[in-house]
Amino acid sequence: MKSMSARLLVVEDEAHLAAGLKLNLELEGYQVEVATTAREAAARLLDPDRWDTLVLDVMLPDLDGFELCRRLREAGTFVPVIMLTARSAAQDRVTGLEAGADDYLVKPFELGELLARVRSMLRRRAWETGGERARPAALLEFGRVQVNFDSHEVRVAGVMTKLTQLELDLLRYFSLHPGRVLAREELLEKVWKLRNYPNTRTVDNFLGRLRRRFEEDPQQPHHFVSVRGAGYKFVPD
Ligand code: CA
Repeated sequence: MKSMSARLLVVEDEAHLAAGLKLNLELEGYQVEVATTAREAAARLLDPDRWDTLVLDVMLPDLDGFELCRRLREAGTFVPVIMLTARSAAQDRVTGLEAGADDYLVKPFELGELLARVRSMLRRRAWETGGERARPAALLEFGRVQVNFDSHEVRVAGVMTKLTQLELDLLRYFSLHPGRVLAREELLEKVWKLRNYPNTRTVDNFLGRLRRRFEEDPQQPHHFVSVRGAGYKFVPD
């Protein structure tokens, strides 16, 4: 599915690179705007519903991309974010994902790779927001939690909350495998799309987030259970 009208915001201060990205994304049929500073990006994101995906460079003149992403998430802005990291250092990727980014790409990257990631992000988004594909378990209920994967609506004891795309993907993966022990490596591969990734700590951090959001007592989790030496198990009730 090509989303002809998808709107992308590219946040990149290197004029040459920004212009190249804009041109090539426009050739794919997207509507593209460029912001050259974090401040400018934040201003355009005051109306987050205008955007379908944010392509966010880490190295910006005023604020680094990680921090911008973190602030957006804290402010309740859940536009999907593809992070452009300058270094391939594993820690950079982990920092990006933990800042609330949904995907990342290491510079220098092939243009085709970026286009594929953008398409994939828009597909995920269409899928989550009730696109054309029929799929199982659009509604998930466990404990005090109700999740509507179509509308992105998440309620805990009736109170609406929001999740990042990655958190939703993780929750969906658990919901498709209730009661099964899922290894960290499997979660990294299936949810984060990271194969043979050496550091599984990011999975633990995300599980901590799901517990803080959804467990009545995050210290004594009932739904997101650790299985020692094996991984995690989702227990709906
Ligand atoms: Ca830059």
